[in-house]
Amino acid sequence: MRKESNVHLDLKWENRNRVFNKIREAGSISGPVLSYELKLSRPTVKQNLDELLEEGYIYESGSFGHTGGRRARAYSVSALKKVSIGIDITKNHITVIMVNLCGSMIYEKRIRQAFSLEEEYRKLLGNLVEEAVREMQVPKENVLGVGLAVPGLITEDHNKIFYGKILDFTGLTAEEIGKYIPYPCRLYNDADSAGYAEISQSEDIDGAFYISLSNNVGGAILINHKVYKGEGSRSGEIGHMTVVPDGKDCYCGQKGCFETYCNAALLSGMCGGDLAAYFEKLEQKDEACGKAWEEYLKYLTIAVNNIRMLFDCKVILGGYVGAYMEKYLPRLKQMAAERNTFEDHADYLIACRVKKEALALGSALPFIHELWKQI
Ligand SMILES: [Zn+2]
Repeated sequence: MRKESNVHLDLKWENRNRVFNKIREAGSISGPVLSYELKLSRPTVKQNLDELLEEGYIYESGSFGHTGGRRARAYSVSALKKVSIGIDITKNHITVIMVNLCGSMIYEKRIRQAFSLEEEYRKLLGNLVEEAVREMQVPKENVLGVGLAVPGLITEDHNKIFYGKILDFTGLTAEEIGKYIPYPCRLYNDADSAGYAEISQSEDIDGAFYISLSNNVGGAILINHKVYKGEGSRSGEIGHMTVVPDGKDCYCGQKGCFETYCNAALLSGMCGGDLAAYFEKLEQKDEACGKAWEEYLKYLTIAVNNIRMLFDCKVILGGYVGAYMEKYLPRLKQMAAERNTFEDHADYLIACRVKKEALALGSALPFIHELWKQI
């Protein structure tokens, strides 16, 4: 008997979950259409709509139908019923974003602030989160949590940085860095976050390798819309793949790491740290910038070809440099094709779609995506 009743409850919950997600995907939809598309009876749909309305996950957003006839009520997701916050922490900046229940970014703020382990810095993080919540007029109980994307390797439970040489914060926990943030905090690796944000916007891509070409270089292996973490949560660390034996010194202590040849700072450093200015000069055919770009593409080609040989999957070029890559893709494709043993083209190369705040976005989205499966 008990077993039967569990099956009944599971089915009841599954129907409710399908109704909610259908409304979310449609944006606005009526009861009869829900019933038709989900192949559920009208009373079942109505019961679920009533429940979701009462709990505040959806609201009546209008009506469908011609004037004169009976109009069907339209339902939409109450976007602020639940939100999550993402923070991107880098050496010199903090970016805070908020994502609503529909998975859309509704708030963003970026400030210049050097990272520090001091109490003041942690208080600032707390203040920035409170400011976002206040400004968006979201009740505190609607905030699911805060994801912090950091340049470090993170334990599987998202609680501790177990390798954090870039900001010298190895050992720091989510509770410690989020001491003044009054919501559950989780840590995420920066490149994993960016990769996750990218794959969330790419329904058509099942498997890909995301390269984050920012001031540090990282990567994420994306399989079935999830990040493959590896045995020790160190997967995709392409920045420390050797591309030149005994080459340039890397901060990690090794020599010739990919990171030392393809970090964005090598390019922006030619224009006082301004990457946009670098690409402007490149467009104006500045000789030094052109030379640096060819050198950059040479090493990038080695990395993307190695990834293609390993995984035979799409390679997404992301991070600061990835955001400018669309225009230069034909040249990079040509160089990659020349290096490829099996293919005479490199159409597997894609410029990233998420060009802004991918890191913060990717650390906020998991909270919302988990809830989509639970409502
Ligand atoms: Zn290295």
